Amino acid sequence: MTRRRIRYIACALALVLPVLVAQSGPIAVLSREGRRTLPTLEVQNHQMVGLDDLANLFQLQIREDTAARAVTASYKNQTIVLTPDQSLVSASGRLVSLPAPLTRRGNRWLVPVEFLNRALAPVYDVKLDFRPRSRLLVVGDLRVPRITAQYDDTPSSLRVTFEITPRTAVTVTQEQNRLLLRDDADALDAALPSAPSQQGLLTAIRATEPTTIQMDLGQRFSSFRTSPVTSSGAAALVTVELLAAPIESSVSPAVPGGAPAPGAPGPAVAAGPLPTFSGSIRPTIGTIVLDPGHGGDDNGVKGPGGAVEKDVALAIARRVKGVIEGRLGMRVLLTHEGNRISADSRASIANNNKADLFISLHANGSPRPSTRGATIFTLGLDRFGEDARRQSQADRAVLPVFGGGTREIALVEWELAQAAHLDGSNAFAGIVDERLRTTAGLPAVTLQRAPMRNLAGANMPAVLIELGYLSNAEEEKLLTSADFQNRVALALAEAVAAFRDHLELSPQVIPTP
Ligand SMILES: [Zn+2]
Repeated sequence: MTRRRIRYIACALALVLPVLVAQSGPIAVLSREGRRTLPTLEVQNHQMVGLDDLANLFQLQIREDTAARAVTASYKNQTIVLTPDQSLVSASGRLVSLPAPLTRRGNRWLVPVEFLNRALAPVYDVKLDFRPRSRLLVVGDLRVPRITAQYDDTPSSLRVTFEITPRTAVTVTQEQNRLLLRDDADALDAALPSAPSQQGLLTAIRATEPTTIQMDLGQRFSSFRTSPVTSSGAAALVTVELLAAPIESSVSPAVPGGAPAPGAPGPAVAAGPLPTFSGSIRPTIGTIVLDPGHGGDDNGVKGPGGAVEKDVALAIARRVKGVIEGRLGMRVLLTHEGNRISADSRASIANNNKADLFISLHANGSPRPSTRGATIFTLGLDRFGEDARRQSQADRAVLPVFGGGTREIALVEWELAQAAHLDGSNAFAGIVDERLRTTAGLPAVTLQRAPMRNLAGANMPAVLIELGYLSNAEEEKLLTSADFQNRVALALAEAVAAFRDHLELSPQVIPTP
């Protein structure tokens, strides 16, 4: 009994192991200039690339210093130092470890593919990103989203849910006996589990050149439908449901009275609505948090005529609240009513109230009295680093959901919550810019990204608006006038309505980073 069980396990391992080893074959090098190929060869179970090939692709100078027993690869004024038969490498003075040593084959020097991300990328002046699974080496800022698929059987259909990270726009069309999901990107980093074929709906699924996922349809396929694209953190989720044709009556005899035989497959009617995935960005706006700048003993900027920023911001916020509630019927909350409040708790109020939009209102100040104009800020990641954005895309978990299925949630560090909403924030900022110029009649509006503390923690699209310079006597008069404040309120209400329409009416068009 025991021996037989061991044999089963050995058998299972033999089947599983080939799947676990890394893919082999050449690496596709993608850049704005096109697609090139980097050959690989396997040495003692390691995927290796030749330093000579890397030299050609990336303009590296390779030198061999026999006396020092070292091989150097230089790029501009950066140097990578390798030692034969050693897996420790110095990349511009920083030690990195590789899973296999620098190896000599004939007259060539070989390094493991991990060299690309660990040693070459840090010294190269253009972004390098090697994706081992799809064997892509992405050079520069190309949009190469990761695509994965998950299958979900129902009695009469097969749901294929694609997760696309970062979000890009997709379309799904049928061409003869296949469905094509086209992604608006430069290339795809696709990992698609093989299709469950027992239903006869989908016989194969694969990525085809350059940005298409092809689904080959089985004999039982009759039609399909596609869910709206929803967001989950930085990812987009879209479900394509393949509907089965009704089973022939000879195969599945109906009982008298026309009801289907017990246990017979149902007709080609969708089993309930397509699943929707609760993402961080809800595709509508129910609650808005307005954040009047400063307050309490924090006056903000003071104008030459005596106007104080905290009062101007609060007065305008109250008017905006009135117009949005009255015209759009949304819930509008203010972070405070004149009291002092910390930068962090402003975003927390929006998060705790599950706001869909966060708008911070300020007036600017400058030592130069002539400086004027409005500025709309969204969070810039310079200070917090692109790492925050990357982390918001990487740390995610799939949780089981009450009622079946799973829901993917993004695990984002609270302080960096805004990183996942920058697309929405920038889209809203663009709309506000347009409305401030037209409806409010502001002559000069600037859009700017900056590492603003008050926006970093907001877990929803968020902007900070400096409506003008209180330090400019003319703009001080404007900012304190009821007429101008009303026009700003109207402009912001129109911007909110336009943003809501943007979210609700065009779910297929998602701004890409
Ligand atoms: Zn301010």
